[in-house]
Amino acid sequence: MKVALFYETLEDKKVKCKLCNHNCIIPPNSTGICGVRKNEEGVLYSLVYGKIIAEHVDPIEKKPLFHFLPGSWSYSISTVGCNFRCSFCQNYEISQYPHIYKSIAGRPKTPKEVVEDALKEETKSISYTYTEPTVYFEFAYDCAKLAVKHGLKNVFVSNGYMSKEVIDYIKPYLHAANIDLKSFKDSFYKNICKARLQPVLDNLKYIKQLGIWLEVTTLIIPGENDDPEELKDIANFIKTELGPETPWHISRFYPTYKMLDKPYTPEETLLRAYYIGKEAGLYYIYIGNVHGNQYENTYCPQCNTLIIERYGFRILKVNLGDNKTCPNCGFKIHGVWV
Ligand code: SF4
Repeated sequence: MKVALFYETLEDKKVKCKLCNHNCIIPPNSTGICGVRKNEEGVLYSLVYGKIIAEHVDPIEKKPLFHFLPGSWSYSISTVGCNFRCSFCQNYEISQYPHIYKSIAGRPKTPKEVVEDALKEETKSISYTYTEPTVYFEFAYDCAKLAVKHGLKNVFVSNGYMSKEVIDYIKPYLHAANIDLKSFKDSFYKNICKARLQPVLDNLKYIKQLGIWLEVTTLIIPGENDDPEELKDIANFIKTELGPETPWHISRFYPTYKMLDKPYTPEETLLRAYYIGKEAGLYYIYIGNVHGNQYENTYCPQCNTLIIERYGFRILKVNLGDNKTCPNCGFKIHGVWV
């Protein structure tokens, strides 16, 4: 167990965790909403420090990040636990592990070992992903700091519910993030994820403002967040608050966990979302979880020349001109390329 960062001690040995926007008040011998931070005698501990539940060498495109070191490998890790309770979670076996099994699992590993393995595998970055990096922040932070010393970049794949303090703490070591914007309705966040919308919107804006490379993902669930007006709200928010150069990944839902009663997202719904994004003025929109479609490619926002051709998570062709511009019209293609 590792003493946690970001908490304060209250009366009667209660603690307030300030790692995420739930700000749990935790009585002694209890855990917060995420189930992986425990108050023992007025001291808050991370129960998942150095306990790796998933570890893979993934294409960076799988995060998904399409404009950050495309074609590179990313050493991807996670512990169990999440601060959300999404009933459609596609990784629920590990994200909800503490609630399902009433225990913590994971192979012991130190930050040094994570970084050594990332270098051995010739990856360019470490991704903190699969579950929610915020809830294993102490471990992610120690890995990220060491990774930078060895020339690696760091990526958070997150629900964006961390506190502002956390973003400030990690910012010197964080190079890119893919943050979910799951809906534009607070009721969706409340009822389905047991969280709130506004902190996510605030964090998206803050991360962008800090200059960390940002891409946004929306999983479109039939009957829950596929209303064209809501999709317009999301697209307009990205355009006006984050900038039209912020890539938007529209991802296909498949029935899982507690949401088995919904069908796969129809392709026409995904396409409608794509054109809503285009109409809003977004430069880079991608349809995910439907391999082998033309909407996985990057096109020049100005002249529509094919810039990066993909098949699934594989890059088939890169057609970037000098200074990372469109070779046809010279438009600057946004991203982190080296
Ligand atoms: S990280 Fe966990 S314990 Fe801390 S505020 Fe969030 S849900 Fe609560």
